[in-house]
Amino acid sequence: MARVTVVTLGCKANQYDSEQLKNEFQKRGWDVVDAQQDPDVLLVNSCTVTNEAARQSRQRLRKIKGNPKRPFLVLWGCYPQAYPGQTEKIPGVDLVLGRKEMDQTVEIIEEKSGLKSCGKGKIEQLPFSARTRAFLKIEEGCESFCSYCIVPRARGRVWSKPLDQVMQEVEILLERGFKEIVLTGIHLGYYGKDRGGETSLEQVIKEILQKTPLPRLRLSSLEINEVSEELLELMGGDNALCPHLHLPLQSGSDKILQRMNRKYLSGEYLEKALYFQGKIPDLGVTTDIMVGFPGETDTDFARTVELVENVGFSRIHVFSFSKRAGTPAAGMEGQVPGPEKKRRNRVLRDIGNKQQAKFNSLFLDREMDVLVESSAPVQGWSPNYIRYYIPREYNPGQVVRVKGKNLFRDGIWGKEG
Ligand code: SF4
Repeated sequence: MARVTVVTLGCKANQYDSEQLKNEFQKRGWDVVDAQQDPDVLLVNSCTVTNEAARQSRQRLRKIKGNPKRPFLVLWGCYPQAYPGQTEKIPGVDLVLGRKEMDQTVEIIEEKSGLKSCGKGKIEQLPFSARTRAFLKIEEGCESFCSYCIVPRARGRVWSKPLDQVMQEVEILLERGFKEIVLTGIHLGYYGKDRGGETSLEQVIKEILQKTPLPRLRLSSLEINEVSEELLELMGGDNALCPHLHLPLQSGSDKILQRMNRKYLSGEYLEKALYFQGKIPDLGVTTDIMVGFPGETDTDFARTVELVENVGFSRIHVFSFSKRAGTPAAGMEGQVPGPEKKRRNRVLRDIGNKQQAKFNSLFLDREMDVLVESSAPVQGWSPNYIRYYIPREYNPGQVVRVKGKNLFRDGIWGKEG
């Protein structure tokens, strides 16, 4: 039986693509193995969203091609798709495929490598089986064109998965024992936009909540102006939809938001975030912030800090701007020096840690249902996305009622309630 290893770099969408690819390989009779088990084919699912991710993709490839028992090497995904013509020249790469070729990937690899599977595969070992949370991608593409982002170029136009297909996939994940599904997309809030109102994100959520016994449903990320009243009603209701919104802020300066080509202003963000927090009990609001965007002055950065202080996030991911070739921001004037980017990054991380601790402390001495995700240490997540550490052996996938004792690392040390 031919053996393949799939290495995943980058975002949740890539993780989902990799699972789908593994499934395709298995359906055609391939064995999906770890990199240490001498695969015949090694597929690197690459990423280009940041310079760092692109660098990691190239580094992985360099490492692999130095191995004397080198497998047939496939570079797959965003990197070749964003920079057609460049990646083919990387020495040691045997085949380059963009994600447009998802459906034909295995067939093309079999043809080009001369490796064949042995007959029809059985899906005994399902690809997600060791996990408790599954990422279900329901949307592809983004047409927002933020000035720092290569994604619209790498991933193309919006495509929404038909509702009946989403429901079939939810059923499959339930059969596999998943307790939580995270609906994800390249730009999740665009779901349905290509289908002329025939379906919407709210409709998908309602169908899942009403027609399946799924214990937990979470949304990956939405833009602040994509959160509808209907969605808030659903999130505030007594159902499986987790009270957690990830709302990328990026900057608190209107000047920078406009240069980024973001579709909201700081005042709008603040007003809506406070409204959501007031409307949904225990809501966790997490965010992404980019520091050091070209033209960001001390005053612009101070506006970001002020806005963050006024919102009060439960978790903040801070990124430093890095130039992506082919994006408008790469050529903008006013690039911020590296040390200053690092300083701003540190300042915001510190604020983020304090806000996280403040939010988490609201849940001490309270009981929460924690979905156990790993067993060393035993830890898992509450519906509003607080990490809990538990001092006992539980199995991943179990839901445990936990009482918060004290703050610990990035979360809460809890005891069985
Ligand atoms: S919304 Fe902006 S940052 Fe997000 S994928 Fe689209 S272009 Fe990129």
